[in-house]
Amino acid sequence: MIRIRGVRKSFESQLVLDGVDLDIPERSVVSIIGPSGSGKSTLLRTIDFLETANAGTIDFGEGPVSLTSTKPKDIASVRAKIGFVFQNYNLFLNRTVLDNVAIGLIHAKGKGRKEAVRIAYDELDRVGMAGFADRYPSKLSGGQQQRVAIARAIAMDPELLVLDEPTSALDPEMVDGVLAVIKSLADSGTTMLMVTHEMRFARNASDQVVFFEGGNIVEQGKPEHVFSHPNEPRTARFLSSIH
Ligand code: ATP
Ligand code: MG
Repeated sequence: MIRIRGVRKSFESQLVLDGVDLDIPERSVVSIIGPSGSGKSTLLRTIDFLETANAGTIDFGEGPVSLTSTKPKDIASVRAKIGFVFQNYNLFLNRTVLDNVAIGLIHAKGKGRKEAVRIAYDELDRVGMAGFADRYPSKLSGGQQQRVAIARAIAMDPELLVLDEPTSALDPEMVDGVLAVIKSLADSGTTMLMVTHEMRFARNASDQVVFFEGGNIVEQGKPEHVFSHPNEPRTARFLSSIH
């Protein structure tokens, strides 16, 4: 179990995360849904130290690490366990597809070039991109770039894959291919924390759905529960507003 506790974050006087507690069971998919501006991305960013929290901890089973820490050792220990997939892919544009995936294996994991390349090909194959290994990202569609970004994240063998609206920057015809890759990772037991506005996908691919509003979790449960029988009026109101 990955345990996130008491995460608070303000930007100047605006409270954005109000003491968030969240458990992510191993090999499960937890999807966060909720209105724009509710703090979903900020939560994902604080657990990977892309923002420094004002309070809170994350525990991968080795004891809690403070999300307020600025110690390189703390930050590195958490980042080594998290693979992060961004809305806008964030590939290295001056590197080939293969190098995008291999480079972290060489620099962060200390693999030799040969082994890194072998792993990178395997991961690219998993996302259907091995045939594009020598291309540069600018020669790929958004959906292809996102699949490479997913391969890059999973190549590092993270304990948790975090995805922030991985399909929301894509042209509609690219969405299904990326969702299929995420679903196959979910089915193979990858532990995931995902923010998505793809409600049908959240329903079909998640073990737990979290409805987030105003900087905290309003309601959480199995997809059938949250989508079909929400307890909280705020959840029902959000769901009816997006249909
Ligand atoms: P969306 O669904 O639109 O992606 P979100 O739920 O991911 O929204 P966040 O991006 O976490 O929302 O933003 C939550 C609040 O924090 C917003 O009011 C936003 O303006 C503010 N915020 C986020 N990042 C910063 C920042 N770096 N500086 C100042 N304010 C920020
Ligand atoms: Mg966001």
